[in-house]
Amino acid sequence: MINNLDFPHTALIDAPGSWVRWARCRLGDPDRMFVRGKRKQREVAALCERCPVVLQCGADALDNRVEFGVWGGMPECERRNLIKRHPHVESWADFIAKNRRTHSRNFLDAVAG
Ligand code: SF4
Repeated sequence: MINNLDFPHTALIDAPGSWVRWARCRLGDPDRMFVRGKRKQREVAALCERCPVVLQCGADALDNRVEFGVWGGMPECERRNLIKRHPHVESWADFIAKNRRTHSRNFLDAVAG
């Protein structure tokens, strides 16, 4: 089974969007990722925990300033906070490819520090 540590993160740069085929949420109702309320969003984000492309998904949502929904395991409030904490980041795809912590388990863990 592929995981986010094995996934070729160069795909972030080489073929933007190519990660989508590995998305754990690609099957089922896509609207389930757009629930309201912190509790429900946390429940939905659990689906992302074992997604092999959680880093790619989170970077894509941040780079495109996606306003709504859970992406990369992050509800919109977490993405907004991350952008505020790292105002210098122009490309999250580049940032995560260059700076991610080796054993990161999720997007926030990958960019912590
Ligand atoms: S990280 Fe979550 S929202 Fe993104 S592709 Fe994976 S399951 Fe879907």
